[in-house]
Amino acid sequence: SETPQTLRARAEIDLGALRANVRALRGRVGPDVQVMGVVKADAYGHGAVPCARAALEAGATWLGTATPHEALALRAAGIDAPILCWLWTPGDPWRAGIEAGLDMTVSGLWALREVTEAARLAGRAARVQLKADTGLGRNGCQPADWPALVGEALKAQAEGLLRVTGVWSHFACADEPGHPSIAAQLEAFHEMLTYAEKAGAEPEVRHMANSPATLTLPATHFDLVRPGIAMYGVSPSPELGTPADFGLRPVMRLCGSVALVKRAPAGHGVSYGHHYVTERETTLGLVPLGYADGIPRHASGRGPVLVGGKVRTVAGRVAMDQFVVDLQGDDVEPGAQAVLFGAGDEGEPTAEDWARAADTIGYEIVTRIGSRVPRVYL
Ligand code: PLP
Repeated sequence: SETPQTLRARAEIDLGALRANVRALRGRVGPDVQVMGVVKADAYGHGAVPCARAALEAGATWLGTATPHEALALRAAGIDAPILCWLWTPGDPWRAGIEAGLDMTVSGLWALREVTEAARLAGRAARVQLKADTGLGRNGCQPADWPALVGEALKAQAEGLLRVTGVWSHFACADEPGHPSIAAQLEAFHEMLTYAEKAGAEPEVRHMANSPATLTLPATHFDLVRPGIAMYGVSPSPELGTPADFGLRPVMRLCGSVALVKRAPAGHGVSYGHHYVTERETTLGLVPLGYADGIPRHASGRGPVLVGGKVRTVAGRVAMDQFVVDLQGDDVEPGAQAVLFGAGDEGEPTAEDWARAADTIGYEIVTRIGSRVPRVYL
């Protein structure tokens, strides 16, 4: 329902589209591969709890978060599906994670020590997934350190302090078709997984695939795939194709009401720095969204906006709370809708268009939409 706040600006979240995307991804990977809905960063800006619920309704059987706090918030909302979280930091709530039945990612010996100590205090075995760095060079255990990590984890498992429930890794360049690191990472993962299994690990799930790998690299699917951006109907990369190429539909539609329409003479500077100057007498429309709401300032003078049936361009700089479009004398009333991005099938721009305008990726466009913009669930 409309409130003054949602009329001014809103991000509509089409949960039906999200469910359809999850079903499309399930269809792509087949019945033997589970789908983990990645809902970190407030479900890439779409709202973690409603999106997690919708993903589970559509057949995802796992959820994935970066931080334990994100995972605990899902538990607090009553979601009891398996949840893997992967970005633990010293001081994080290991014991609460064990008590909440989270799957906790361990990439090294300090984390293993933390988790076993917490398991002793909790009097309960932790669910631990070992993460291999097969080449991303970010989180995860290096091949050289893997035997020690696996050995210590299996020792703790024998003592009843934990169970190794998963072995997994993450790609660096899965969105670049044919990149040589893809095959190298896959081979390294096979080796590290084989080592762990020969040492006695019996993981419930083995997994590597993010969205681009889920969409284009079946050999990487193993027992489970971890799509994030695809679930939200945004392309992982223009090189791979559009969302529609993969049967996916954008979930977020960002719009605002035109706050003010006014005439301005030729030669009038617009917004900070006067980077836009009207060529002739015109009308200017003010859109009440700015970089505090996640509209990239880098898209100043470039971001596309559908207003009054035509796609306009942000005139001048995006400010903290607002930007201007040149309506070129068209008959647009205050209160008219300005659509920044959406599904694209009604002439509106898409998140990919904004990514191009801001020299970034679609992930950043949707994820950064700020908390001042109400989410309206359809
Ligand atoms: N798995 C891990 C470990 C991640 O960090 C991410 C997100 O970056 C994903 C899966 C999902 O990636 P994508 O949004 O490309 O599907």
